[in-house]
Amino acid sequence: MRIKAILQQRCPYCRQGSVFSGFFRMHPTCPNCGITYEREQGYFLMAIFVGYLLDLLICAPLVVWLLLNQAPLSWYLLSLPICLLIFAQPVFRYARVSWMHLDELLDPRRPEEIPTNDERSTTNDEVGRSSLVVRHL
Ligand SMILES: [Zn+2]
Repeated sequence: MRIKAILQQRCPYCRQGSVFSGFFRMHPTCPNCGITYEREQGYFLMAIFVGYLLDLLICAPLVVWLLLNQAPLSWYLLSLPICLLIFAQPVFRYARVSWMHLDELLDPRRPEEIPTNDERSTTNDEVGRSSLVVRHL
C-alpha cells in the first residue's frame, strides 16, 4: 500500500527499502531493490513545491487560530517561522518521499531503469565503500 510506504518513508518502487540514512541524508539507491532515487539531475526540485504544500497544511491551523484570537501582527511574525523551523525536517523528508511516490505513480520506472542483481551488488558495494570512507573522516 502506497500510503503506508509514504508514511514509513520507503522506496517508491519496491516499498521496502528505506529512503533516508540520516536526519537529512538520503540513500543514493534503494538498499532493497537498488533503484536510483534521483532519476535525473534536478529531480528533487519538484519536492520543493510539495514541501510548500505541506508547510501550508501545517501552518494553516495556526493562522486560523491566530485570526480567531485577533492576534497582533507580531504573533504571526514570531510563531510562523518557529512553526516552520520545528517542522523543517519532517517536511523535508515527506516532501521528497511524496514526490518520489507521485512521480512513480505518474511515470513508472521502465525495465531498463531497474538494476539487475549484478548491477545492484556493485552499486551497493560502492555505496558501502563511500559510506565507510565518510565514517573514517
Ligand atoms: Zn526499492
